[in-house]
Amino acid sequence: MADTFSDLNTPKRILMGPGPSNVHPRVLKAMATPLVGHLDPEFLQIMNETQELLRKLFKTENRLTIPVSGTGSAGMETCLSNLIEEDDEVVVCVNGVFGQRMAEIVGRNRAKLTRVDAEWGETIKIEKIADALKGKKVKLVAIVHAETSTGIRQPLEEISRLVHENGALFLVDTVTSLGGCPVEVDKWKIDACYSGTQKCLSAPPGLSPITFSENALKVLEERKTKVPGWYLDMSMVKKYWGKERVYHHTAPISMIYALREALRLIFEEGLSKRFSRHELNHTALAAGLKAMGLDFLPLKEERLWMLNAVRVPEGVDDVRVRSKLLSDFSLEIGGGLGEFKGKLWRIGLMGESSTRANVLLFLTVLEQILAEEGFPPDRGAAADAASSVYRTEN
Ligand SMILES: *Cc1c(COP(=O)(O)O)cnc(C)c1O
Repeated sequence: MADTFSDLNTPKRILMGPGPSNVHPRVLKAMATPLVGHLDPEFLQIMNETQELLRKLFKTENRLTIPVSGTGSAGMETCLSNLIEEDDEVVVCVNGVFGQRMAEIVGRNRAKLTRVDAEWGETIKIEKIADALKGKKVKLVAIVHAETSTGIRQPLEEISRLVHENGALFLVDTVTSLGGCPVEVDKWKIDACYSGTQKCLSAPPGLSPITFSENALKVLEERKTKVPGWYLDMSMVKKYWGKERVYHHTAPISMIYALREALRLIFEEGLSKRFSRHELNHTALAAGLKAMGLDFLPLKEERLWMLNAVRVPEGVDDVRVRSKLLSDFSLEIGGGLGEFKGKLWRIGLMGESSTRANVLLFLTVLEQILAEEGFPPDRGAAADAASSVYRTEN
């Protein structure tokens, strides 16, 4: 009976999967702030501050820099459906789940899709994009900066140059990278970029920060047809976030409180300190996993700091290990997606979850669980290897 359901009482989890990451108590507290109306002058001020903080995080002066109502995928759909129209030539780079998702959305918008594929676990090479751009007038090239399904970090600057030489717009998915490693929207000449709140920003899922360059705004203004979806049509939404303050849909007020607080925390720490923290904890974790005899999927120089993709050792049961981590240690990691189902562990060190304590705990308990699985590592070697990384850093 519904009226006898108990109070919510969720366990305290250590969130080391591909998102959500752990949320700072100040962000949860911000969400409990009393509501004001979505056109209340107090709220308009909060919106302005949130936009200012987002511009600082994206490293951009772009006017249209706002959180879209919805998770990261809503940001993906917003960027694509606002900037492309039926029969436009669009190139999508695919080396994992999220590139695939972009290709799917391009198809639904009836654009002409050219896929540039790479093996999952490898970066997209610029020569392949150059080939795809030959002989046609491409409107937009889309790529994932941090492919969360494979743990790959995609270099962007040279590709951006190539895309602009060909007169196309450059769209980048920074859902997992933003707030954990450098993302330079203006310097790298990114025309449209989207992210999510529950990865390295360490807020709950529910908003997707996006930013559009002046060129992207021009493309939006000069569309021949309306954006097919009403809800994510930025030509209307931007009038709510801009000077006009025209009602479009009710802003998710508590989520915007949360995002603003998460951004304040980011700038209290400082971007460069925050990125170094993500790098250091990744380096320590990688040293520990190596000492344990586990292999990463990506090459060393292409690995993400915030998402560590390692192969499940031969003979070890993926699901049983992850279930034990959760039930015995209240620690969540992710499994493989698509072709890597059952074959990959995805260990997140995102935002608030990227701590030395989490790294050392995880290595210690994983060692214990693997021993029970008949994969006996050298006891204590993993935490030792990680600790020595921390020692050399100090
Ligand atoms: C998580 C993620 C998304 C999708 O975000 P949702 O919040 O799950 O909708 C898109 N792209 C990348 C790279 C992601 O990691």
